[in-house]
Amino acid sequence: MMKRDCPHCFERLEKKSLKKGLWSVDTDVCRSCNGLYLDKGELLKLTSNRPLHNITTKYLGVDSDSKLLCPGCGSIMDMESVGGVEIDVCLQCNGVWLDSDELEQLKELDSDDIEKLSPEKMAELYDANKAVPTSGILSWLFGR
Ligand SMILES: [Zn+2]
Ligand SMILES: [Zn+2]
Repeated sequence: MMKRDCPHCFERLEKKSLKKGLWSVDTDVCRSCNGLYLDKGELLKLTSNRPLHNITTKYLGVDSDSKLLCPGCGSIMDMESVGGVEIDVCLQCNGVWLDSDELEQLKELDSDDIEKLSPEKMAELYDANKAVPTSGILSWLFGR
């Protein structure tokens, strides 16, 4: 197991088990800033929010706005605005970094709110859609 450090304070992350219904999710938390690192799929378990999961597991965007390095794999993360909450997602391993309170804010989000995307986001997805030959990203993102 690779050691994981907080991308903000570089403190060693500590294991913290979060409960959501039947799920028990082992997260990594920073004691110093209360930031939280989630491996791929863990955000879905904690929020049961499928559109949110789809947005955080995209493989798009090489122009990263984020300055953070992924605690999971060391890659540069990408800033993603989801329903007004700015989260950092890793394009490499699909890990998610949440600052203090952001998990609570994400839990409040309705899946419908997430689908009301900004025009910029729609344009980005549209471009990505054209780049995907077989099944389009739009149908993958919004298809139920
Ligand atoms: Zn920290
Ligand atoms: Zn990563």
